[in-house]
Amino acid sequence: MNQRVPFYKHQLDSIEQESIAKSLKSEMLSSGPKCVEVEQQLKVFFNVKNCKLVNSWTNGALATLLAMNIGPGDEVIVPSMTFIATANVVEILGATPIFCDVDSETLLMTLDCVKSLVTPKTKAIILVHLYGQMCDVKSFKDFFGSTEIKLIEDCAHSFESDYKGDKPGTYSNAAIFSFYATKNITCGEGGAIITNDDELYEVIEQTVLHGMTVGASKRHENGAFKVWDMNVLGVKANLPDILASLLPSQISNAMTKLDLRIQKVLNYDTHLDLTDAKIPVRHHKGVHAHHLYPIYIPNGLRNYAIKTFMDEGIGVTINFRPVHEMNYYRNRYNIRNSELKISSDWGSGVISLPLYPNLEESNQNRVIDTLNEKIAPRLRKAAKS
Ligand SMILES: *Cc1c(COP(=O)(O)O)cnc(C)c1O
Repeated sequence: MNQRVPFYKHQLDSIEQESIAKSLKSEMLSSGPKCVEVEQQLKVFFNVKNCKLVNSWTNGALATLLAMNIGPGDEVIVPSMTFIATANVVEILGATPIFCDVDSETLLMTLDCVKSLVTPKTKAIILVHLYGQMCDVKSFKDFFGSTEIKLIEDCAHSFESDYKGDKPGTYSNAAIFSFYATKNITCGEGGAIITNDDELYEVIEQTVLHGMTVGASKRHENGAFKVWDMNVLGVKANLPDILASLLPSQISNAMTKLDLRIQKVLNYDTHLDLTDAKIPVRHHKGVHAHHLYPIYIPNGLRNYAIKTFMDEGIGVTINFRPVHEMNYYRNRYNIRNSELKISSDWGSGVISLPLYPNLEESNQNRVIDTLNEKIAPRLRKAAKS
């Protein structure tokens, strides 16, 4: 029997075990000195003024949108080719997600995709750096910078990325990361918000913690109890120190781990028979974080491909079915696929292959052999008929 090839494997090890054990000995298990330390580390990594660790991308985005005072009557432009959370956070707050399509080659949002969707109700645009390749945030900043429209970056795939040398957080009002179990950097559940906007950050510090004016760790500062109030509505988005303790070593090693992922990517690029399949175009305008290795299986053969991989014990997944096609959004907004053609088409055929720094060579070869020997011939036949 062949060894199973999991879709994802984390690489947390003895360093993280020691770190979490230390954390358990501290007095308070909630957000404390460890979070402050990691926030400092992230501020340096991204060269930004402010950083707040959160317990998920989703809660971080809710806190950010709340701090921007976004709610009923407001519109937020989001891509349909993304994970549902990007749109859900808008919907949860009673605002309306306006779905945009993406560039046909890179599958990224561009100014051209977004411009025609802007109305007087548009309050924000969430730019998704899909699969680890960054959108041109500066072009959005140049166009929208003089308006009230806020730019938010969904960096769930793009921790290591840059665009022409500019990292996330450089041109947006806020950039939000995910440290969920399958992301490049993970603490099981977690995330971070970074921003250079001091005024916004002051409110985010409150909206991540119920809206309280003084956070728990600061209530007893300098020996005196600080009476707190609540000026804005917030969520409970703070990350506990226990989970934050898993992050410092991963952040330090992020670029080394990226190099290992790039080797796997090049191996796929060189050896996969993609004659009748395709991968997104890489724009080569900066560092690609290669969070995922997506390939498009045409001619309605995706289910066949998934079954073939699964029969071989190889974990594959779909990133993503377009959000507007989800039952909830279909029932609510009924957007036709012809209105979001590129996202709908890509979403009908995309699968992601296993990709992580410790993916064994023999296992990766099995993924390649399975595609080339069992799936590609079937694609060839379908392409001819
Ligand atoms: C994973 C993911 C999220 C959600 O992250 P959580 O930390 O699980 O809330 C949001 N956007 C994209 C593009 C993602 O892949």
